[in-house]
Amino acid sequence: MGVKALNSLNQFLDDYPGMSTAPCSDAGICLRGRFRFKASISGNDEIEDFYMLEIFVPDKFPQALPEVKETGGKIPRGGNFHIYSDGSLCLGSPLRLLKKIHSAQNLTGFADKCLVPYLYAVSYKLMHGGDFVFGELAHGDQGIVDDYSIMLGLQERYQIIKAIQLLGVKKRIANKRPCPCGCGKRLGACLFHHKLNEFRKMAPVAWFKTQALN
Ligand SMILES: [Zn+2]
Ligand SMILES: [Zn+2]
Repeated sequence: MGVKALNSLNQFLDDYPGMSTAPCSDAGICLRGRFRFKASISGNDEIEDFYMLEIFVPDKFPQALPEVKETGGKIPRGGNFHIYSDGSLCLGSPLRLLKKIHSAQNLTGFADKCLVPYLYAVSYKLMHGGDFVFGELAHGDQGIVDDYSIMLGLQERYQIIKAIQLLGVKKRIANKRPCPCGCGKRLGACLFHHKLNEFRKMAPVAWFKTQALN
């Protein structure tokens, strides 16, 4: 672990004293424990709550996303709570999370921008019912495609698939391929390439390759 990563870890453990490091079989850091937060988001009531979590932070963070599992069974499975049956949290589409983490670059940033808003929405829903207070995206594949449609400004699924494929190819090569926006030009000749280049700054080509949609 580098000095920067270590500082980031210590900061996180200071901010969330219920969490501690745990043995980890994969290349990264495992954090486990009681994740307590107090937040007021988008002008909604302040909520103080906690969840038992297990967070796996890959070595490549922030160019790879952490995975979070809820281990306390407090979040209803099977309902519309954006949680998978194994307890993994659905914190948002991969590109959205990457973008949020890119503006923070440390574990506390991940907690503040990705994790706390999600848990806040869960607590709010548990208390008041109704929809998630923000992010009314569908769970699963359709939610990801809808979110990418907003982020990339592309309407059709096939265009979004193409755009993600192009991110998984070196810039020089991608720029020679047809642009997914429908302009009929090659990518490099269309302003759309600026949009893709913004994302290229956030993660390596290899990461985008793992995010291919079909
Ligand atoms: Zn979901
Ligand atoms: Zn274009």
